[in-house]
Amino acid sequence: MRLCFDTQFPANQLELSDGSGQRLRLENRAGTLRQGDRVLPEPWLVSPEQACILRLGGQAFAGEVWIEAASVGGFTVWHELELERYLERVLAAELALWSAPSALLEAQAIAARSYAVHQMHERGALFADTRDQVFSAEPVDTLPANLRAKLAHSLAATRGQLLCMGNDVLDARFHAACGGHTEEGSAIFPELPPGALLGVACPPCQASSPTWSYTASRADLDRLALDLGLGPNVQRFQVTRSGQGGRWLELEFFGSRASARCSLEALRRRFGPSLLPSSNVRSTWPKAGSPISKGLNLRGTGAGHGVGLCQAGAKELAEQGWSSERILQHYYPAARIGALRSAAPVPHP
Ligand SMILES: [Zn+2]
Repeated sequence: MRLCFDTQFPANQLELSDGSGQRLRLENRAGTLRQGDRVLPEPWLVSPEQACILRLGGQAFAGEVWIEAASVGGFTVWHELELERYLERVLAAELALWSAPSALLEAQAIAARSYAVHQMHERGALFADTRDQVFSAEPVDTLPANLRAKLAHSLAATRGQLLCMGNDVLDARFHAACGGHTEEGSAIFPELPPGALLGVACPPCQASSPTWSYTASRADLDRLALDLGLGPNVQRFQVTRSGQGGRWLELEFFGSRASARCSLEALRRRFGPSLLPSSNVRSTWPKAGSPISKGLNLRGTGAGHGVGLCQAGAKELAEQGWSSERILQHYYPAARIGALRSAAPVPHP
């Protein structure tokens, strides 16, 4: 497994410390990696002693890291680790371990393993953040013994298990809460083949799902108008494409000079996925079609892109006694559970 950290170290100086407390200061000077006046060969390999943990910024690495000075400033850090060691830190970051039922942990382990194997095969490396799967800042050794045991059990019980479609490992996306219905994968992510990830009803989220409210300010909308070439401001919008559960997929914004379409996922990336938590918008003020004079308030439900396994729904189904297999069949109806071949289909980059 190869992990890439690149936005973690935006400054042009990077401090690295090892288990003995020894510190090393690296610098990106005009795209060149330096330690003081010494130019370092890139990528520069930092290999800690066994059982020693390296710290870079807020992230701990138990193993080798390669560091490059990025041409745009900052650093790119690569970390190599074994798939199951990677997954334990993904599960620790994705779920509240203390309250997660074991069927949820197992379903999440299989989905995260499938996603990682699929993406490694496609791209050779994964980002250690929401662009791929989040990765806990600390190794799991720092967790209390009961949580470590729970985590180890869920990985051991599903070891080698993957979601498959035909001979391929499924690009198994997942999200925090769908708001009542998950979305067809290709409607949100054009790179996904139609029919691979189907939208399904999620009864637990239909019964209850957290709501949110986000207001894009006048200044936010003026910047959007400029970027979309609409003129000085956004005058109104309309919904041009909706998903299966009423999720808004695409909006058209109108200005004095032109109109342009923008997907809800692009808007979420623009405004920040934590501020605009999902595309499951239930109401806006002003309403679609009405003139916008100040900002635009959106209210909705759910969290995340809405594709694949819904963690909130799966948690409740697990508490009702559903097995991990049944949960996965529900959220990935086109897939089956298969096994990782001993010669894993993961090319080394
Ligand atoms: Zn749900």
